[in-house]
Amino acid sequence: MGTGKVILVGAGPSGRDLLTLKGFSALQKAEVVVFDRLVEQDILDCIPITAEKIDVGKQNNHHPVPQEQINQILANKAKEGKNVVRLKGGDCFLFGRGGEECEYLFENNIPFDVVPGVTSAIAAPAYAGIPVTHRDFCSSVHIITAHARAGKKLEIDFESLVNLRGTLVFLMGLSALEQIMQGLLNAGISSNMPAAVIENGTRPTQRKVISNVLEITEEVRNVGLKSPALIVVGEVCALSDKLDWFAKQPLYGKTVVVTRPQERIGTLSEKLRRLGANVIECPCIQTVNAVDENIFKKALTKTYDYIVLTSPAGVSAMITALEKVGKDIRVFYNCKFAVIGEGTAKELKKYGINADLIPDIYDSKHLADLLVNSINHQSSVLILRANEGSKELTTTLSNANIDFTDISTYKTEYCCNKVEMLKDMIKNNSINVVTFTSASTVIGFVNSIDIDKYNNFTALCIGEQTAQKAKSYGMNTKVAKNATIDSMIDVLIEEDNNV
Ligand code: SAH
Repeated sequence: MGTGKVILVGAGPSGRDLLTLKGFSALQKAEVVVFDRLVEQDILDCIPITAEKIDVGKQNNHHPVPQEQINQILANKAKEGKNVVRLKGGDCFLFGRGGEECEYLFENNIPFDVVPGVTSAIAAPAYAGIPVTHRDFCSSVHIITAHARAGKKLEIDFESLVNLRGTLVFLMGLSALEQIMQGLLNAGISSNMPAAVIENGTRPTQRKVISNVLEITEEVRNVGLKSPALIVVGEVCALSDKLDWFAKQPLYGKTVVVTRPQERIGTLSEKLRRLGANVIECPCIQTVNAVDENIFKKALTKTYDYIVLTSPAGVSAMITALEKVGKDIRVFYNCKFAVIGEGTAKELKKYGINADLIPDIYDSKHLADLLVNSINHQSSVLILRANEGSKELTTTLSNANIDFTDISTYKTEYCCNKVEMLKDMIKNNSINVVTFTSASTVIGFVNSIDIDKYNNFTALCIGEQTAQKAKSYGMNTKVAKNATIDSMIDVLIEEDNNV
């Protein structure tokens, strides 16, 4: 077996939005991922489940894995022929010991690549409305580590820094904030020189204190900012209020859990993130294609006027079911398609088929009513859906004496990969919203989380049926006006919405 390769990837300062495409692609192909404390969960969620994840960061009171041992892990895994990704917060070469790791790999003849990352030193100020340079104020920016070796004083040449007149960005400096400000003052910086401390920069939990060199220490202490945080000193900090774009995002500061199945989670999560929300992806259902071939074959010996599909998953399940019995979509060449909503219509369109009937309100009741009202009652209908489909559809058709065949093409299973994390967060009141895009996501969520009360977050539901289910567990619900993802988001960003 040949030697594998180590790819050092800068993960950026927060979630996947600020990860480079090259870094993302390296993660997708990784067999082993060795990561640090600063790497956020959302980035870890981009790692394939098959990859081995090794946490070498400091956790609570546990000490971090010593650098020498990290080097060895990287080398050994690569020697096993594995594709290794070494993930680091921010950029890998800015105070991240990336250089030392590369030297070690070089000495051990192990090939490596480096994928730079977005550094907190520039991105956190940017998200706080501070451009690190600006023609009106300065012509240089300096990034300084304020980390002192154990028991030692800071080794910073404050006089030189002050003479440079540029923007100063101090990393690892929160606990030495007072010393740093004193050092700058002693070196002659103006006591009203603007300064900022940014905690959790670029993350949905970002906080900042803007002040001046003289007063910032006390203000930061009063607000209680914690690590990770960085310090910016310079005239540019005065722009922070004016250019404060990030904290103005409509969902800034809100933590939202998305429970839809993995393959469909992206659109909702991405939209929420773009609006500034802290998104936790936790699929609570997964769909598994499953059809009884004999029953389906027999059903296909009949001809139908209408094919009814009740979810986007049902569309691909239909295609798979047809494949299973050696057919393709042409068996329905003469049929019309009735679908439950826009999402299903869109999925169907991927196969080149336009939906003929879509109810105004996207649920099975309205779909059933639409069929009864608009099709010839001599028509024959084939329903292709999940094994536990709503009875409303079939009962309404039966009552209208419409001939139908109901075939299950897939089943829904419950899952959740963040049970402990979500339990803790719910207990601490740190979740604002949980989104539910079907009644089954509610059941999946409740089955997995399994706590006494679900009343300290808003259950944002796609439609009435979903909301009924959520209410049955005591959840406080809000319902989208017209059963679409966009409409769910509208509910969240409506003004005066206390979610
Ligand atoms: N390689 C990293 C820096 C590692 S040093 C990068 O390029 O960003 C660790 C220090 O970076 C922390 O002590 C803190 O000062 C800063 N830092 C990292 N992430 C941060 C964030 N999201 N917000 C504010 N500061 C951050």
